[in-house]
Amino acid sequence: MKLLFSILGHTLMFVVLTVLTQVGGIVWLLSLIVIKWWPGKPYRWFVFPGLYLIVWVLLPLLAKPFGRVPLPLRASAEVPLQPQNAFIVLANRHYVRPVLKKETFAVAQRLQADNPDMILTYLDANFPFINGFPLLPHRSHNDGKKLDLAFFYQRKGELTSRAPALLGYGRCAEPQGGERDQPQRCANSGYWQYSLLPKLAWPFRRSGYTVDEEATRKMVRAFARQGTIGKLFLEPHLKTRWRLGQYNKIRFHGCAAVRHDDHLHIQL
Ligand SMILES: [Zn+2]
Repeated sequence: MKLLFSILGHTLMFVVLTVLTQVGGIVWLLSLIVIKWWPGKPYRWFVFPGLYLIVWVLLPLLAKPFGRVPLPLRASAEVPLQPQNAFIVLANRHYVRPVLKKETFAVAQRLQADNPDMILTYLDANFPFINGFPLLPHRSHNDGKKLDLAFFYQRKGELTSRAPALLGYGRCAEPQGGERDQPQRCANSGYWQYSLLPKLAWPFRRSGYTVDEEATRKMVRAFARQGTIGKLFLEPHLKTRWRLGQYNKIRFHGCAAVRHDDHLHIQL
């Protein structure tokens, strides 16, 4: 019975770590082998974190031949682009194809040249390896070609693009009276998951933030103008409200996805 629980526990850890970080499950199995070879109670708790850290540091080198590169860990003077939080980078969810990195850098630099306070924040991108390997809960972030970006916000008179929500998702710029209410339409058609993220994020929302519509519109427009960006997903009411009607690349993503009035999705 004890062996059965042990196998179940390790299988669960393998699945959870693989889903969250792609390589974490394999590192967990490696840790079990190391602990088996190197018994000693005081050390065993450090084996997984230590091995994970080594693999995490080596991943950019290992991922390069597979055509994926990491986005920056923090904003710098040269590249004003930062992750929403440490989880995204520690969980290896910040890998993209080199051309998408280049395009994102170009937009970040152009926005900051316009306004030095504009620092772009990215959310989930892709894992480092294997086309088709899903980055849950996203439907399409599985080939290095996809990236989510946070909107810009005003907080106490300061511009920020760190979204005030759990992992950056779920703080929605809701449809107002008279605007097309796509989330309601999707809910009416039975797509219960469409507005799930704001419900999950509700307890973690930070108050005092309002979307800076002009700054966010500038960001969306800058990406829409980049030649190699093929598609952008944004909720229809925001496309209309922000006068972006002339950009055919800005599309509605369908009710089977989740709503996009809390972040911008771009892809090659
Ligand atoms: Zn996305």
